[in-house]
Amino acid sequence: MSEKTVCPRCAHPAITRLFPSPVPGAWDVLQCEQCLYCWRTSEPARRTTRTAYPDSFKLTVEDIRSAPEVPAVPPLRRDREGR
Ligand SMILES: [Zn+2]
Repeated sequence: MSEKTVCPRCAHPAITRLFPSPVPGAWDVLQCEQCLYCWRTSEPARRTTRTAYPDSFKLTVEDIRSAPEVPAVPPLRRDREGR
């Protein structure tokens, strides 16, 4: 892992190493413990570093707290019987 890795999306410092590459040392798959963003270290800088990550996709702690819940799947409609 490089110098000081923080989450590209939310800048959180707690990063978990999910998977190493099959060829040792080629890359790692990392995941942010806060927002669960995942990336492979061999991806381009705009996916792997906070400074190059697109501003419009960055999250703050406040964004995460105020994120709407994922809506529940509504019950099946009953207007097509017999399927
Ligand atoms: Zn994050």
